[in-house]
Amino acid sequence: MQEEKSELEKALVTGFYGAPQLKPEERNQYLGTFRERIIKLLTKKQVVEPVIYSEILEALKDKRAVKLIINGEINSCFTDKYEKLAEGLQKPYTILHDPDLKGETGLIVVSDDAVDIENIHVEDRETRLKKLGIPPELIHAAGEKICKDCFDKIVKAAPNEAGNYQLITFKDRFWGEECFVCHKD
Ligand SMILES: [Zn+2]
Repeated sequence: MQEEKSELEKALVTGFYGAPQLKPEERNQYLGTFRERIIKLLTKKQVVEPVIYSEILEALKDKRAVKLIINGEINSCFTDKYEKLAEGLQKPYTILHDPDLKGETGLIVVSDDAVDIENIHVEDRETRLKKLGIPPELIHAAGEKICKDCFDKIVKAAPNEAGNYQLITFKDRFWGEECFVCHKD
Protein backbone atom coordinates (compact mmCIF):
# COMPACT_ATOMS: atom_id res chain seq x y z
CA MET A 1 0.00 0.00 0.00
CA GLN A 2 2.77 2.34 1.00
CA GLU A 3 4.59 1.52 -2.21
CA GLU A 4 1.51 1.99 -4.34
CA LYS A 5 1.06 5.40 -2.91
CA SER A 6 4.60 6.40 -3.61
CA GLU A 7 4.24 5.13 -7.18
CA LEU A 8 1.17 7.29 -7.55
CA GLU A 9 3.04 10.22 -6.09
CA LYS A 10 5.85 9.63 -8.52
CA ALA A 11 3.40 9.60 -11.40
CA LEU A 12 1.90 12.87 -10.23
CA VAL A 13 5.28 14.49 -9.86
CA THR A 14 6.22 13.37 -13.36
CA GLY A 15 2.93 14.66 -14.66
CA PHE A 16 3.35 18.08 -13.15
CA TYR A 17 7.04 18.70 -13.33
CA GLY A 18 8.61 15.96 -15.38
CA ALA A 19 7.20 16.76 -18.80
CA PRO A 20 10.14 17.17 -21.15
CA GLN A 21 10.82 20.83 -21.71
CA LEU A 22 10.73 21.78 -25.37
CA LYS A 23 13.85 23.38 -26.80
CA PRO A 24 15.37 24.38 -23.44
CA GLU A 25 18.55 25.79 -25.05
CA GLU A 26 16.61 28.10 -27.33
CA ARG A 27 14.32 29.21 -24.54
CA ASN A 28 17.21 30.00 -22.20
CA GLN A 29 18.68 32.20 -24.89
CA TYR A 30 15.39 34.02 -25.57
CA LEU A 31 14.03 34.77 -22.09
CA GLY A 32 12.02 31.57 -21.84
CA THR A 33 10.38 32.01 -25.22
CA PHE A 34 10.49 30.16 -28.52
CA ARG A 35 12.41 32.05 -31.20
CA GLU A 36 9.44 31.75 -33.57
CA ARG A 37 7.27 33.90 -31.27
CA ILE A 38 9.61 36.88 -31.11
CA ILE A 39 8.66 40.07 -32.96
CA LYS A 40 11.66 42.21 -31.90
CA LEU A 41 14.66 41.80 -29.65
CA LEU A 42 17.11 44.19 -28.02
CA THR A 43 20.43 43.07 -26.58
CA LYS A 44 21.35 43.90 -22.99
CA LYS A 45 23.77 46.48 -24.31
CA GLN A 46 21.03 48.17 -26.34
CA VAL A 47 18.63 48.25 -23.38
CA VAL A 48 21.09 50.16 -21.16
CA GLU A 49 21.62 52.90 -23.75
CA PRO A 50 20.07 56.20 -22.62
CA VAL A 51 17.52 56.13 -25.45
CA ILE A 52 14.35 54.32 -26.39
CA TYR A 53 14.65 52.22 -29.52
CA SER A 54 11.69 53.21 -31.68
CA GLU A 55 11.69 49.68 -33.14
CA ILE A 56 10.37 48.47 -29.78
CA LEU A 57 7.61 51.07 -29.84
CA GLU A 58 6.64 49.85 -33.32
CA ALA A 59 6.80 46.20 -32.24
CA LEU A 60 4.57 46.86 -29.22
CA LYS A 61 2.03 48.50 -31.53
CA ASP A 62 1.98 45.36 -33.68
CA LYS A 63 -1.40 43.63 -33.31
CA ARG A 64 0.34 40.30 -32.81
CA ALA A 65 2.34 41.58 -29.83
CA VAL A 66 0.96 40.32 -26.51
CA LYS A 67 3.78 41.03 -24.09
CA LEU A 68 7.15 42.59 -23.37
CA ILE A 69 9.64 40.36 -21.55
CA ILE A 70 12.63 41.96 -19.85
CA ASN A 71 15.80 40.28 -18.62
CA GLY A 72 15.85 40.66 -14.81
CA GLU A 73 19.66 40.89 -14.80
CA ILE A 74 19.42 44.44 -16.09
CA ASN A 75 19.13 47.19 -13.49
CA SER A 76 15.60 48.59 -13.41
CA CYS A 77 16.89 52.14 -13.91
CA PHE A 78 17.59 51.09 -17.52
CA THR A 79 14.40 49.10 -18.10
CA ASP A 80 11.93 51.61 -16.62
CA LYS A 81 11.61 53.46 -19.89
CA TYR A 82 10.48 50.31 -21.72
CA GLU A 83 8.08 49.35 -18.91
CA LYS A 84 6.46 52.77 -19.24
CA LEU A 85 6.33 52.39 -23.01
CA ALA A 86 4.47 49.08 -22.67
CA GLU A 87 2.12 50.51 -20.04
CA GLY A 88 1.33 53.45 -22.30
CA LEU A 89 0.25 51.04 -25.02
CA GLN A 90 -1.60 48.83 -22.54
CA LYS A 91 0.63 45.85 -23.18
CA PRO A 92 1.71 43.81 -20.16
CA TYR A 93 5.36 43.29 -19.31
CA THR A 94 7.23 40.66 -17.33
CA ILE A 95 10.63 40.92 -15.70
CA LEU A 96 12.23 37.51 -15.87
CA HIS A 97 14.66 36.40 -13.18
CA ASP A 98 16.14 33.06 -14.13
CA PRO A 99 19.69 31.87 -13.46
CA ASP A 100 19.47 29.54 -16.47
CA LEU A 101 19.24 32.42 -18.92
CA LYS A 102 22.08 32.57 -21.42
CA GLY A 103 23.22 34.92 -24.13
CA GLU A 104 22.78 38.61 -24.77
CA THR A 105 19.01 39.01 -24.95
CA GLY A 106 17.93 42.12 -23.02
CA LEU A 107 14.26 42.29 -23.89
CA ILE A 108 11.80 40.86 -26.39
CA VAL A 109 8.36 41.72 -27.72
CA VAL A 110 6.49 38.48 -28.19
CA SER A 111 3.37 37.01 -29.72
CA ASP A 112 1.26 34.11 -28.45
CA ASP A 113 1.81 32.25 -31.70
CA ALA A 114 4.60 31.56 -34.12
CA VAL A 115 5.23 34.68 -36.19
CA ASP A 116 8.51 33.48 -37.72
CA ILE A 117 10.01 36.91 -38.23
CA GLU A 118 13.27 36.56 -40.09
CA ASN A 119 15.08 39.54 -38.60
CA ILE A 120 14.21 40.05 -34.97
CA HIS A 121 17.37 42.04 -34.24
CA VAL A 122 17.65 45.81 -34.20
CA GLU A 123 20.65 47.61 -35.65
CA ASP A 124 22.71 49.46 -33.04
CA ARG A 125 21.65 53.08 -32.87
CA GLU A 126 25.22 54.30 -33.09
CA THR A 127 25.92 52.29 -36.25
CA ARG A 128 22.73 53.49 -37.91
CA LEU A 129 23.26 57.15 -37.05
CA LYS A 130 26.91 57.09 -38.14
CA LYS A 131 25.77 55.82 -41.53
CA LEU A 132 23.45 58.83 -41.70
CA GLY A 133 26.42 61.13 -41.15
CA ILE A 134 25.61 62.18 -37.58
CA PRO A 135 28.75 63.18 -35.67
CA PRO A 136 29.57 60.95 -32.66
CA GLU A 137 29.35 63.81 -30.13
CA LEU A 138 25.75 64.39 -31.19
CA ILE A 139 24.94 60.65 -31.12
CA HIS A 140 26.29 60.40 -27.57
CA ALA A 141 24.39 63.45 -26.34
CA ALA A 142 21.11 61.51 -26.09
CA GLY A 143 19.14 62.61 -23.03
CA GLU A 144 21.00 65.93 -22.87
CA LYS A 145 19.95 69.46 -23.69
CA ILE A 146 21.02 70.64 -27.11
CA CYS A 147 20.52 73.75 -29.26
CA LYS A 148 18.04 74.06 -32.12
CA ASP A 149 20.77 73.69 -34.76
CA CYS A 150 22.00 70.41 -33.32
CA PHE A 151 18.45 69.20 -32.73
CA ASP A 152 17.48 69.92 -36.33
CA LYS A 153 20.57 68.17 -37.60
CA ILE A 154 19.70 64.86 -35.96
CA VAL A 155 15.93 65.02 -36.40
CA LYS A 156 16.26 65.81 -40.11
CA ALA A 157 18.41 62.71 -40.60
CA ALA A 158 16.48 60.48 -38.18
CA PRO A 159 13.01 61.81 -37.20
CA ASN A 160 12.49 59.01 -34.66
CA GLU A 161 15.36 60.42 -32.59
CA ALA A 162 13.40 63.54 -31.55
CA GLY A 163 12.26 62.02 -28.27
CA ASN A 164 15.82 61.18 -27.26
CA TYR A 165 16.93 64.81 -26.89
CA GLN A 166 15.83 67.91 -25.02
CA LEU A 167 15.81 71.27 -26.69
CA ILE A 168 17.59 73.88 -24.60
CA THR A 169 15.15 76.57 -23.45
CA PHE A 170 15.38 80.31 -23.04
CA LYS A 171 15.31 79.80 -19.29
CA ASP A 172 18.19 77.29 -19.44
CA ARG A 173 20.24 79.84 -21.33
CA PHE A 174 19.42 82.46 -18.74
CA TRP A 175 20.91 80.21 -16.08
CA GLY A 176 24.06 79.74 -18.12
CA GLU A 177 23.38 76.30 -19.65
CA GLU A 178 24.76 75.70 -23.09
CA CYS A 179 24.34 73.13 -25.84
CA PHE A 180 25.85 69.81 -24.74
CA VAL A 181 27.27 69.27 -28.22
CA CYS A 182 28.49 72.58 -29.65
CA HIS A 183 28.53 74.61 -26.39
CA LYS A 184 26.77 77.50 -28.04
CA ASP A 185 24.76 79.49 -25.50
ZN1 LIG B 1 24.39 72.76 -30.48
